[in-house]
Amino acid sequence: LILFIVTFISRGQESNIKSSVKNVETKVDSVLNLMTLEEKIGQMVQYNGGWDLTGPATNAGNKQKEDRIKKGLVGSLLNVLSPEATESAQRLNMENSRLKIPMMFGYDVIHGYKTIFPVPLGETASWDLDAMQESAKIAALEAVADGVNWTFSPMIDVSRDARWGRIMEGSGEDPYLTSRVAEAKVRGYQGENLADPQTIAATAKHFAGYGFVEGGRDYNVANIGKTELNNFILPPFKAAADAGVATFMNSFNTVDGTPATASEYLQREILKGKWDWKGFVVSDWGSIAELIPHGIAKDKIEAAEIAIKAGSDMDMEGGAYETGLKKLVEEGKIDEKIIDDAVRRILRVKFKMGLFEDPYRYSNKNLKSQVNYEEHRKTARDIARKSIVLLKNEGNLLPLKQNQKIAIIGPLADDKDTPIGNWRAQGEANSAVSVVEGIRNLGPRNISYAKGVDLGMGEKSFLVPLKINETDRSGIPEAVEKAKAADVVVMVLGEDAFQTGEGRSQTNIDLAGLQKELLKKVYEVNKNIVLVLINGRPMEITWSAKNIPAIVEAWQLGTESGNAIADVLYGKYNPSGKLPVSFPHAVGQEPLYYNHKNTGRPYTPGVVTSSHYTDIENGPLYPFGYGLSYTTFKYSAPRLSSDKMNAGDSISVKVDVTNTGNLAGREVVQFYLRDKVASLARPVKELKGFKLVELAPGETKTVEFNIDEKMLEFYDAAGEWVTEPGEFEVMIGGNSEEVQNTDFEFIKQ
Ligand code: BGC
Repeated sequence: LILFIVTFISRGQESNIKSSVKNVETKVDSVLNLMTLEEKIGQMVQYNGGWDLTGPATNAGNKQKEDRIKKGLVGSLLNVLSPEATESAQRLNMENSRLKIPMMFGYDVIHGYKTIFPVPLGETASWDLDAMQESAKIAALEAVADGVNWTFSPMIDVSRDARWGRIMEGSGEDPYLTSRVAEAKVRGYQGENLADPQTIAATAKHFAGYGFVEGGRDYNVANIGKTELNNFILPPFKAAADAGVATFMNSFNTVDGTPATASEYLQREILKGKWDWKGFVVSDWGSIAELIPHGIAKDKIEAAEIAIKAGSDMDMEGGAYETGLKKLVEEGKIDEKIIDDAVRRILRVKFKMGLFEDPYRYSNKNLKSQVNYEEHRKTARDIARKSIVLLKNEGNLLPLKQNQKIAIIGPLADDKDTPIGNWRAQGEANSAVSVVEGIRNLGPRNISYAKGVDLGMGEKSFLVPLKINETDRSGIPEAVEKAKAADVVVMVLGEDAFQTGEGRSQTNIDLAGLQKELLKKVYEVNKNIVLVLINGRPMEITWSAKNIPAIVEAWQLGTESGNAIADVLYGKYNPSGKLPVSFPHAVGQEPLYYNHKNTGRPYTPGVVTSSHYTDIENGPLYPFGYGLSYTTFKYSAPRLSSDKMNAGDSISVKVDVTNTGNLAGREVVQFYLRDKVASLARPVKELKGFKLVELAPGETKTVEFNIDEKMLEFYDAAGEWVTEPGEFEVMIGGNSEEVQNTDFEFIKQ
């Protein structure tokens, strides 16, 4: 076979290196055996393809890139966005290169492609894994229609810090919930079979520790010990690896002094060693060359040496591998075998994607006309409304009544851009349904609208920080007048799309600019306020939580935002979302998270020498897992099948959940465990399961969770995953604080 391929190629005939050999590994090796060192290194290079690839390049840098593509020295491009452009880029490669190894086309498809879904943090608030899988599937379909075949998603960095701008891209503070979302997303993007040309390869990122950057400051160091890393940060990555994610992306941050990109421990020992994962690791943008400013490499050559040894397989736009690897092999500083391993991994993914069968299979110009964007919008509305969290509803101000006179006020009330969020792929600017539009879409209503104040001024983009309006109050009087004349005021406040995302960390997570002033002025004339928050991170809303009767957390919900919000405000959908992150009383509490450990002096109300701040209430304003409904639910005491569990066995716990209100509703039943005494300090509780139940008024359902030994495992100080005998507390409830509990004993002989 190899001989056949060699002859075939050496004849210079066009070939896709099709092989009849069934086994992917044999195919991979047969290609690898043909490759020169330079060609191998070429596969490990990824370029930004953000120029017009449908015609010849005009600037010198891009010409050089095209030249390398023609020589077969580029493994992948990112940011090439049309079937025409991906096809012509692929042609440059296939029609000119010696071995004709197809390129992959990557892009950040984070929460939808054209149809935009809620930002990941918001979508996670639905706790609806089927919905999250579906939105990934739709995003994949739409991306493929634009020639993209690889997304840099899901981001599964557990984060406990609302200051971190990228908290909106992840699933919040809990490793278990993030793990389940990771699996759902991988299944959604990749489908059953990577070779299905309606699916795209996924990326588990950022490996690892990025969500724990110190002070929530983006790109900063992460000072995490091994038990913290293994118990809280790595589980979602393990889940993604087990779900068959095609690629991993490493990370900008250091972990305990070593940049993740240079971490042999993370990439070789854990990911490719212990987990035996067979895909490839792409660096984060330039993160290999960034080993120089990190101060651990003196130049790109040394950076390449460190990164390849550590297990980074592909260099995203960093220029280190193309500069350094050949020289390093020739000088004997690295063994070619290490390069072979990286290339094997890259080729394996390409074979699995069916790219060798047909390198143009993802560049189908007819696909766009076949994509059912209308249908996708319907799904987007459904997922958006499931993501909304009702935080407060004093006096049942919500749902609004049809005949009430409503003033809709605030800088985000008629904003069609902010709900699209950051990392918006090809979601167009100003393409979301605004709240004003959404309410109007529900039919005739007695509505007035005033913006009140502008939130941001100047350019809105990925590249410049938003300039917040602190001075222009000219719209406030009109807003106050309209509020005065209304039965209920719907105030729509929060964060602009570009206040969260990469490089968007903040020390202040309060309502920015003049929003709070506007809110207070309106409150002076009308206290019947429903505060709708549109934002990408937990916010400091202590004043509102105290004074405003109704608060709806509506995140940045995507294309159908306003319709989804209107559905909830008018009771067309009974809210069911629950917070995937704790909301603080004050930013100074961050990082704040429910699954913390006790200190030797745990918080005891009124005790000065306990662990707390003296100027603020301890704990969160709204805890992890929290969210109300227009109905109410009651939980019975949990019933264990046995209060003893032997090693290797399992027991179960049942709880009855009753809808005690007058409306049908959906509840997220949450199950937590606590290991009471262990060799390490263990969290006061950890989520171990959850179930969604739909209940008619008065209806009771029994919800059951299985408890097995695996659930009791943790990574101990000696570096082993262990279970230890002793008492465990079981907690079940509708959020992490209001729980019913019972105990069992775990016995190990
Ligand atoms: C981000 C990644 C992203 C990459 C490519 C980087 O700056 O950290 O999450 O996938 O750029 O756009």
